[in-house]
Amino acid sequence: RASHCRKKLSPTGGNRMDNKETTYCSVTDIFGENVFNDTVMRERLPKKTYQKLKQTIREGRDLDIETADVVAHEMKEWAIEKGATHYTHWFQPLNGVSAEKHDSFITAPMSNGKVLMSFSGKELIKGEPDASSFPSGGLRATFEARGYTAWDCTSNAFVRQDAAGATLCIPTAFCAYTGEALDQKTPLLRSMEAINEQALRLLRLLGNTSSKKVIPSVGAEQEYFLVDRDNYLKRKDLIYTGRTLFGAMPPKGQEMDDHYFGAIPERIESFMKDVNEELWKLGVPSKTQHNEVAPAQHELAPIYGECNVAVDQNHLVMETLKKVAVRHKLQCLLHEKPFAGVNGSGKHNNWSLVTDDGINLIDPGKRPHENTLFLLSLACILAAVDKHADLLRESAADIGNDHRLGGNEAPPCVISVFLGDQLADVMEQVLDKGEATHSKKGAKLQTGVKSIPDFAKDVTDRNRTSPFAFTGNKFEFRMCGSQDSIGEANVVLNTIVAEQFADVCDELEKAKDRDATIQKIIKDLMTRHQRIVFDGNGYSEEWRKEAARRGLADIRSMVDAIPALASETTVALFERFHVFTREELNSRVEIEYDQYAKEINIEAKTMVDVASKSIVPAVIRYSTRLADSINQVSSACPEADTSVQSTILKNTSKLLAKTQKALRALEKAVADADQQRGSEKRAQYFHKTVMARMDALRQPVDELEMIVDKDLWPMPSYGDLIFEV
Ligand code: ADP
Ligand code: MG
Repeated sequence: RASHCRKKLSPTGGNRMDNKETTYCSVTDIFGENVFNDTVMRERLPKKTYQKLKQTIREGRDLDIETADVVAHEMKEWAIEKGATHYTHWFQPLNGVSAEKHDSFITAPMSNGKVLMSFSGKELIKGEPDASSFPSGGLRATFEARGYTAWDCTSNAFVRQDAAGATLCIPTAFCAYTGEALDQKTPLLRSMEAINEQALRLLRLLGNTSSKKVIPSVGAEQEYFLVDRDNYLKRKDLIYTGRTLFGAMPPKGQEMDDHYFGAIPERIESFMKDVNEELWKLGVPSKTQHNEVAPAQHELAPIYGECNVAVDQNHLVMETLKKVAVRHKLQCLLHEKPFAGVNGSGKHNNWSLVTDDGINLIDPGKRPHENTLFLLSLACILAAVDKHADLLRESAADIGNDHRLGGNEAPPCVISVFLGDQLADVMEQVLDKGEATHSKKGAKLQTGVKSIPDFAKDVTDRNRTSPFAFTGNKFEFRMCGSQDSIGEANVVLNTIVAEQFADVCDELEKAKDRDATIQKIIKDLMTRHQRIVFDGNGYSEEWRKEAARRGLADIRSMVDAIPALASETTVALFERFHVFTREELNSRVEIEYDQYAKEINIEAKTMVDVASKSIVPAVIRYSTRLADSINQVSSACPEADTSVQSTILKNTSKLLAKTQKALRALEKAVADADQQRGSEKRAQYFHKTVMARMDALRQPVDELEMIVDKDLWPMPSYGDLIFEV
């Protein structure tokens, strides 16, 4: 670090209150310094090797072993200079977090007792973690343990440095011995190939001969909470489940709207500074940071990049937020709903399609043929989202998100598309008259196709309530959960749009009059799928009714969303583009049900543990204190009025009895879960029966928290957690 950090402030010279020495780093110097990126490759690899590797990256070919050996050697030398002793294949199995298995570079000791540091091409390209310890949803039996990780050379290797040492991390895909995908990356890379192929076909049919590649571009805005780490460590529910399972609302919540975009406190700012520096070194272009709606809630957004890199980088963002928080005696909560009654956290997935020569298919653009391309792309996206709304909804399903979606703080569970005034008007004209003749306002764009309307640029207003909003030159899918990988959502987006492009291309290839056919397709698609467009308030009850009238699905929970992952429509879609096989989809269904049941089981058991070991004893202590007071006051002064103590004692005892009853009922529900056969039934049981009993236990406990002496209550309150940072 030191080499690039220029200025140091003396302990007294800075503007910081804690008198700690602050170092200021030049961002351009540190950016990407821990990444084996193009600059490093060009510098360190022999020219021939460099060219071969670049060709492999560009064309997606296999890397020959001789080239891999040279790359591996140089990568190791570079990593060792950065302090690395180990390397790891870094991958994203289906348990939601990233995984790694560290090996050191050392060779077997030689006869002189010394070792060498080595790293071969084979070790770079292929790893072999034990696949049986990762979820496979029945694709692998535990005795069939073979799984492989394979280098994704389109995502750069990097060195992760921290107090524990430095490690060379190699982004990899993770597959079973038999080739099935066991991770997020494999299908993502397949879906990127599908959209690339179909979008290029479309471009060619519209006369584009220059673009060579179409890349889905993604920018993920990450929301998170920060709480004081000492407070966090006193909350078993946060430790075990990532969210609070008990907790009464503090007198002040977020009703004053004073946190959103508010000034960032110094403690948090210094945390953000460290996060940014770590991310910049890892080549993550962290750009925007601000406070979010809820107290203690914040957001970080990087500059968008290639889809698979953006997905990897979002994992790095999540890892880094957590790691750096601990250094600042904070805890980063990535859960979608850490606090009931307070806004939850999501991840906005900004998505567009950009060619290697810089054409964004979703940008209205300036030149006529691009506008045709835009309107056609838009019509295709509307159709794709409408056709596969349930699948898109599923891609954002995770357990924490169930508490957030549809709760007047996040998009509803109904998928719809927001277009904004001008595009909606254009679309209406197409629907009414077969063609649009004017645009509402703003600078005109001319499409050059007679019946395709002119319209103005950058006129979309914001609509925070829409799950899928057009925002100028991209779509923003806002349903994703804050702790979930955005991999799945992008697999779905890429593939459903690829399918629609493919269908349109098939039609255009047969067409005699291509221009006329394009106009007809735009009109047909907009007509058939207009029900998916909605520009009003997505949080309102009227919209739920209207959506039902339009026949749009309103899938309220993860367990109800899962079946869409292996419906016949979905299987046909994914098999057509070789993104998933039926077996892979079925395995993912199994994994999701299984994870759902397991996580709710942990939540329920944590509630039982905390209630019986901490809350009930605390309430008994409090009751005893009240009873003692009544006895002592009465014996000291028989005429004294002890009615206050008596009333509180009566109330407390009643709630205590209610708590104990709910506790037993929850225990029983958890024990009975073993009788549920089959993963779907089990998940549904946890969703319906167990969760209802969890709610029933929480209710009297939260009431008790408002009554019992604060010094007796066994854990920090919501107020302590969200206002003490
Ligand atoms: P907004 O205010 O509309 O949310 P921002 O400029 O803050 O827009 O961008 C939010 C995220 O979207 C950022 O990560 C940004 O890099 C990303 N983004 C911007 N343009 C595109 C695009 N064309 N495709 C994908 N992501 C984009
Ligand atoms: Mg945004």
